[in-house]
Amino acid sequence: MADKIHHMVILAGGVGSRLASLNGNLPKPLVRIGEKPVIQHQLELAAAQGIREVTIFAGHLAEKIIAFVGDGSKFGLKARIIVEKEFLGTAGALLQNLDSLPEHFIVLYGDIMHAVNLRDIARAHFGRGADFTAMAQPTDHPQDSDLLETDGESRITSIHTCPHPADRAFRNLANAALYVVRREALRPWATLGGKQDFIKDIMPELVVRGSRVFAYRSGEYIKDMGTPARLKKVESDWAAGKIGMEKSRRFRAAVFFDRDGTLSVEKGFLRTPEDFELLPGAGPALIALRRAGFRLVVLTNQPVLARGEASETDIAAIHCRLEWDLGKEGAYLDGIYVCPHHPDPGFPGERSELKISCDCRKPAIGLFERACRDLRIDPAGSWMIGDQTRDIEMARRAGLRSILVQTGEAGRDGRYKTAPDYIVGDIAAAAGVILQSKEVRTG
Ligand SMILES: [Zn+2]
Repeated sequence: MADKIHHMVILAGGVGSRLASLNGNLPKPLVRIGEKPVIQHQLELAAAQGIREVTIFAGHLAEKIIAFVGDGSKFGLKARIIVEKEFLGTAGALLQNLDSLPEHFIVLYGDIMHAVNLRDIARAHFGRGADFTAMAQPTDHPQDSDLLETDGESRITSIHTCPHPADRAFRNLANAALYVVRREALRPWATLGGKQDFIKDIMPELVVRGSRVFAYRSGEYIKDMGTPARLKKVESDWAAGKIGMEKSRRFRAAVFFDRDGTLSVEKGFLRTPEDFELLPGAGPALIALRRAGFRLVVLTNQPVLARGEASETDIAAIHCRLEWDLGKEGAYLDGIYVCPHHPDPGFPGERSELKISCDCRKPAIGLFERACRDLRIDPAGSWMIGDQTRDIEMARRAGLRSILVQTGEAGRDGRYKTAPDYIVGDIAAAAGVILQSKEVRTG
């Protein structure tokens, strides 16, 4: 099925003014990463994954792109380059040429470096019967990113474009500028003419119309180079050997965190985002662990759901706050996994369907196992940090090394007798233990 997609569109028409100071007279797609221009990386990767034809929409300095790409044959595919006389947003020129595109195609922006398995995203697109699939990832700069909100099935329910209102918090799931598109889903815009933008105009309207618009979340490498600082980051990632299909798809160790009392101030049963408060040092600890190569995942028991004391909407609002506050510090999580269950009945307003003995309430390891499957986590070399004995017991059952922090409950709950591998003051000290141990292990 995935082999149905053999066409890729590269949007190379943006003026690239933000990068102009760095690259002089080069259009963004010709900026070099390592020894090759970005567009060459994109074309070679596409050809290696079964893409046979490429349409490039070029504007600013189009002649240089034409001279470099030619008919595409030197990259193993057939290229056609359409020059936009005036920039019509990310989608305008594509819409004018809609009839020349096949039934499904991939779209990516000319200023992204990626190591994404295109067959996998195509498979997800067809498997869901999607009209539009957008690759999405958490980012270290959610405050200035276009963000996607999804339901439990990854269907996009709303889109929040920049700039974001100062008084709101959003989940950290950024549009990554790589789409799979069913051509006919764009038909309503084909005759409108003028400027059209995927993220500002088309995607929100598709969502409102009830089209099947999905986020495709994966931990694979994809980054834009829209500013000099981000270009620098991509260059250093390349130099460090971080960009490549093998690297992108490798299983990695993770650090798992409990939420209340570990990442955030323990406040009894937290029910509203107003009461949420990150512990000092949480952001820098996460940044340091990510730099060391760990995935970062929260595993949290939320029996307030089963007891009817908080709704899914309340919990989602609290997690918006968590991710937003971390984002302000440049930190982000790969996932937040919630057990909504509670085994004992007898609470007024409780929800009987959640009043069960489940396999995910810590110290059970169901949440851990789901995260490992979703996020390509290698349990070997992974850690658990928590403030309760149930976190430590979960770590033992999952085969993880464990650290008990002296914040929150500080292990005083005493439910399980499992000894942690380390006891430290707080999350910052816990990160220190892990980083030191990694040095010892790899050193
Ligand atoms: Zn559960």
